[in-house]
Amino acid sequence: MPAEPTYVIVGASMAGAKAAETLREEGFGGSIVLLGEEQERPYERPPLSKGYLLGKDDKSSIYVHEESWYAENDVDLRLGVTATGLDVGARQVALAGGGTVGFDRLLLATGAAPRRLSVPGADLEGAVYLRRVGDSERLGEALRGGGRVVIVGAGWIGLEVAAAAREFGCEVTVVEPEAGALHRHLGPELGGMFADLHREHGVVFRFGESVTELRGSGGKVASAVCSSGEALDAELVVVAIGAVPTTRLAADAGLDVANGVICDAGLRSSAHEVFAAGDVANAFHPLYGKHVRVEHWANALNGGPAAARSMLGRGVSYDVVPYFFTDQYDLGMETAGLPEPGSYDQIVYRGDREAREFIAFWLSGGVVVAGMNVNVWDVSDDIQALIRARRPVDAARLADPGVPITAL
Ligand SMILES: Cc1cc2nc3c(=O)[nH]c(=O)nc-3n(C[C@H](O)[C@H](O)[C@H](O)COP(=O)(O)OP(=O)(O)OC[C@H]3O[C@@H](n4cnc5c(N)ncnc54)[C@H](O)[C@@H]3O)c2cc1C
Repeated sequence: MPAEPTYVIVGASMAGAKAAETLREEGFGGSIVLLGEEQERPYERPPLSKGYLLGKDDKSSIYVHEESWYAENDVDLRLGVTATGLDVGARQVALAGGGTVGFDRLLLATGAAPRRLSVPGADLEGAVYLRRVGDSERLGEALRGGGRVVIVGAGWIGLEVAAAAREFGCEVTVVEPEAGALHRHLGPELGGMFADLHREHGVVFRFGESVTELRGSGGKVASAVCSSGEALDAELVVVAIGAVPTTRLAADAGLDVANGVICDAGLRSSAHEVFAAGDVANAFHPLYGKHVRVEHWANALNGGPAAARSMLGRGVSYDVVPYFFTDQYDLGMETAGLPEPGSYDQIVYRGDREAREFIAFWLSGGVVVAGMNVNVWDVSDDIQALIRARRPVDAARLADPGVPITAL
């Protein structure tokens, strides 16, 4: 009898934990080793810039599984353990502090890490990043004290932190080199709606400017200097300038890496026994006909299980429509698809834009390529089906709330 295989998962977060769950659900009877460099068992990151940051969500609500789940499902969860090397030929992962773990198949679910601000003074105390639960706890403490906050970057995390900081009563200035908020994500029109929302709540924006230096006093940050030369006084600077996929293990092992671990539609990397999922995977997307790396919660939620099935030889074609959500003040929204600049030639609105209760559809050649529902609920599945259908739609019917999305 051949020995039961060992599947190793590097990265104990959403994608990794969901992959382990799926392996067991699909009847995998071998060993599962789940390695995580953080001390926490797998948790979800979206609450870290929303309810958990604000102190509204209990810590128990952020975890992917109950503590007992890992033992109950015979998943060997090793926390505080960093994988430092990957030998594909020997099928071994090296661990910090010595030791190795052998694998038959490996999943890289190493996620992403905040892009660092590289300016003089960036290492001053009070210049912070937000990725881990401890970051969120420290940031919440700092915001609770009020004061002046400069946020570097008007992307999703920057804006969510801005909303939280305003709820705590801080003075908030957001510095962003683009001409508006969320430009790369939503384009000027809809990014502009988010900027207006924040302005109404007292946030000040410095668009078209970057932070060139942080100045301190007694080792602590005291101001952020903008490219215009102006220094903005601040006790806290939150750097939110995007994330970089954690690819070092894969790159050092000689796997194909370019903006993430290059994978096929089955989330298999250039090494036959190695797979990738979540933020770190740059996978061929059948719907788009190109490689796409998606840094969203739902991609970890769905991609981990897809990779697990692929590891089991189930013949996976991972073609989920990218999905994202955010909550800021009293605005909740979901986006389906990739409304990247250049990917659309028309935007059609359905509903009340003034009241911020509407759906925006991005179209290319009359075909819906992405959709965003703002304070309108239970429509994202239908929007995703419409994106998948790839058929031209009538713009007037698309704009008419009386026409069900399923009838378009
Ligand atoms: C503050 C915040 C708010 C967010 N809000 C939203 C939101 O509202 N909506 C949304 O759709 N998305 C949101 N996201 C994005 C979403 O959280 C990510 O897409 C998701 O966490 C990706 O999961 P992952 O499992 O791929 O990777 P990660 O969550 O990055 O986890 C990877 C894990 O692997 C570990 N690791 C890395 N290298 C090693 C190694 N060598 N050895 C051992 N362990 C290793 C890391 O420490 C980490 O724990 C948010 C992200 C953040 C940070």
